[in-house]
Amino acid sequence: MSFRFCSLFSGSSGNASYIGTEKTHILIDAGLACKTIEKSMKEIGLDPSMLDGILTTHEHDDHIRGAGVVSRKYNVPIYANQETWEAMENKIGNISSNNIRVFNNNMDFYIKDINIQPFDIPHDAVSPVGFCFFNKGKKISIATDLGHTNSRIINTVMDSDLVVLEANHDIEMLKAGSYPMHLKKRIMGRKGHLSNEDAGLALVKMIKGKLTHVLLAHLSKQNNLPQLAYNTVVEVLEANGIKNGKDIVVDMTYRDRVSNFYHLG
Ligand SMILES: [Zn+2]
Ligand SMILES: [Zn+2]
Repeated sequence: MSFRFCSLFSGSSGNASYIGTEKTHILIDAGLACKTIEKSMKEIGLDPSMLDGILTTHEHDDHIRGAGVVSRKYNVPIYANQETWEAMENKIGNISSNNIRVFNNNMDFYIKDINIQPFDIPHDAVSPVGFCFFNKGKKISIATDLGHTNSRIINTVMDSDLVVLEANHDIEMLKAGSYPMHLKKRIMGRKGHLSNEDAGLALVKMIKGKLTHVLLAHLSKQNNLPQLAYNTVVEVLEANGIKNGKDIVVDMTYRDRVSNFYHLG
């Protein structure tokens, strides 16, 4: 029995990831149209009718766009905290009451054989969270849409086997780019998005645990390039004596296609 993870698509344009075991199938966010979610699940041999739940990190469109349709079409429960439910209710349409599930931040719960621990992250949404997932001694964590990391977040995710970490933008590309100043400030702010360099620096701290794999996620289309994100993170790691491919494996997610499909254990 293996614990599985695959990013279906990731970026400021839309986000969804699959996490599962043989018994349990979960989506983390549903940020593009139902059709796109169906297509990308099919690519990895899965179907939305198998889903046991859709977890919601926060109410921004790039995380919830398809959630209502998938829930209605396939009768799938949506999980979110109370504040996020209130903020997204009028965006995702009518959800049948038996598919409305509410969790509390920083309190763990189960979907079948997967234990889920939501944790607070600093981002400009009502009550945004990252998640840690546990199954048979393996741990997978997801932390995207965060303006900065702190020791609480580092400690929460550092003993994961696999971490999905935001590498949103290259600072120089963002500064030189065409975004209006208020948007640049928002992205760079304490509740905005994590830069490539900050992702590298966070990883240097996380790697003191048992972490072996990282997937860089939520790349900006305007202010980043996959190769640049990868190179910057690897450079920061190597400047701190950490070898990519030996001490840790750095891998990518993509805005328009599925990532590698990880099977742990
Ligand atoms: Zn986002
Ligand atoms: Zn967001």
